[in-house]
Amino acid sequence: MDKNDHAKHTLEPHVLIFPTPLQGPVSCFLKLAELLCISGIHVTFLNTDYIHRPLIRHTQVLSRFRNYPNFQFETIPDGLEHDNPVSIEKLDEMIDAVNAAAKPLFRDMMISGRWSRSSERPVTVMIVDAFFSFAVELGLETSTPVFCFQTISPWEQSDELVTSVPGTQHFLRKRDLAGFCQTDDLSNMELQFVLQQALITPQTQGLILNTFEELDALVLPHIRKVCPNVYPIGPLHSLYRSRLLADTTQILENISSNSVWKEDKTCLSWLDKHPPKSVAYISFGSLATINVDQMLEIWHGLVHTGKPFLWVKRPESITGEYNESQVPNELLERTKEIGCIVDWAPQEEVLAHPAVGVFLTHSGWNSTIESIAHGVPIICWPYFYDQQVNSRFVGEVWKVGVDMKDLTCDRFIIEKAVRDVMDTRQGMFTQSATAWQNLAKESIGETGSSSKNFALLLDDIRELSSIMK
Ligand code: UDP
Repeated sequence: MDKNDHAKHTLEPHVLIFPTPLQGPVSCFLKLAELLCISGIHVTFLNTDYIHRPLIRHTQVLSRFRNYPNFQFETIPDGLEHDNPVSIEKLDEMIDAVNAAAKPLFRDMMISGRWSRSSERPVTVMIVDAFFSFAVELGLETSTPVFCFQTISPWEQSDELVTSVPGTQHFLRKRDLAGFCQTDDLSNMELQFVLQQALITPQTQGLILNTFEELDALVLPHIRKVCPNVYPIGPLHSLYRSRLLADTTQILENISSNSVWKEDKTCLSWLDKHPPKSVAYISFGSLATINVDQMLEIWHGLVHTGKPFLWVKRPESITGEYNESQVPNELLERTKEIGCIVDWAPQEEVLAHPAVGVFLTHSGWNSTIESIAHGVPIICWPYFYDQQVNSRFVGEVWKVGVDMKDLTCDRFIIEKAVRDVMDTRQGMFTQSATAWQNLAKESIGETGSSSKNFALLLDDIRELSSIMK
C-alpha cells in the first residue's frame, strides 16, 4: 500500500451497525455489513450478547468476516441469560432487558471512541434499527449521521377501509393493519413504542428498506413525504448474493447463513428427490408459536393433500404440553412417506429450490420478500405486526397467493388452501409470482432500482463521513 492508498484507506467511512437482536434483522444487517465491506467501507458490527452467542455457535460468520480486514464484531452485554433466541411471548421481556442493560453501556462505548482502531477513524455514520431509539438519540446528540434500517415491511379489525392512504383505499381494511394500529387507547405500550420509532426516523439521514421500488410503489411515495431519503435496496438477499458472486475475490462457499439456530441441510437432498413445484414448504419464522391443536390441524391438512411437504418446527414453537404420543399413528406413518420435518431450514436455499411449489408462512417480511424473489406462491397465515398487512398485499395487490387471516386453523381449510394454490389456481399464481420474480431480478441488475439506491447510499455515507472530523 503506497502513501496515497494509505491516506485513502484511513479516510474511508467507519460505519457502526447495530441490529435488533432477532433472527430477521441480524441476518439482514449482516448482509448489508458485508456489502459495505466489499465497497471498502469500515464496519463495526455491534451485537447484543444474547444474539451473538447462538449466531457464532451455528454459523461460520467469524471465519467469513475474517476475510475483511475492514470489519470487526463487537458485543454489548444485555443482561439476558437465555441460551436460545426467545419466541414472541418473551419478546417484551427481552426488549426491556436490552434497553435497561445496553442503553447506558452504548453511550459509554460510543463516547469513549472504543470502536475506533488505530488504523481507522472513529465512527462516522451509524446504521441502526429505530427499535433502539436510544442509539438514534445518541447519534443526534453527538452529531453522528444516523440511517435507520427497517427490516419489516414499509407498512405497518374491522372491515372499515383505511381511507387516509391514497392508492390503498379500495382494499386496505383496518383489520389488515397491525393490532396496535387498531386501538383507540393512545397509552397502549406497543403503540407508543412504534410511534417513538416513527417519529424519530424522519430526524435521521435516511431510511434503508428491504424492498424494491416496483414492489412497494403504492407506499414509498407516502414514506418519502415524511422521510425524503429512502433507500429501498431489496430483495437484500438477492442483491447480496449477486454482489458476492460478482466479486472475483470471493469464494462461492463463503456465502453462508446467518441463522441463530442450527440449519438442517438434509432437507435440501430430500427436496432433490421431488419434481418441480410439487412440495409445500411450511415455516412460521423465528418468533411465532402455535399450540398443539393448531399443529395437529395443520398436520392433518397437509397429509390429506397427499402432497410432499417440508415443515420447519422450530424448537419451542409449539406451546403447551406436547409429545409425540399425542400424534395419531396414521399421521406419523404417512409423514415418513411424504413429509420432512426439521427444526430449522436453510430457508433461502429452500425457496430457491425448483421442487418448492408453495410457501405456507406467517407472512413475516423477510419470508415474504424471499418468496417473491424466488417466484414461489404464498399462503399467508399472519400473526402480528406488519404480517397482517403483508398478507393483504400478497392476496390483493401482488396476487401471488392467498390471505388466510379470516379463517380458522382447521385441517379442511389448510387442505383446501394448499390445493387451491398448487392445483386449482396454480397457473394464475405462478404467472404473477414469476412476473414479480422477474421484477425483483431486474431491481438488483446493473441498472435496476435497488442497485441504484445502494450506490446512492454508498455515496451518501461517503459524503457524510467526509465532513466528520
Ligand atoms: N428462516 C430460516 N430458516 C427457517 C425459518 C426462517 O433461515 O427454518 C429465516 C428466513 O429466511 C427469514 C427469517 O428467518 O430471513 C425470518 O424472518 P421473517 O421476517 O420472515 O419472520 P420473523 O422471524 O421475524 O417473524
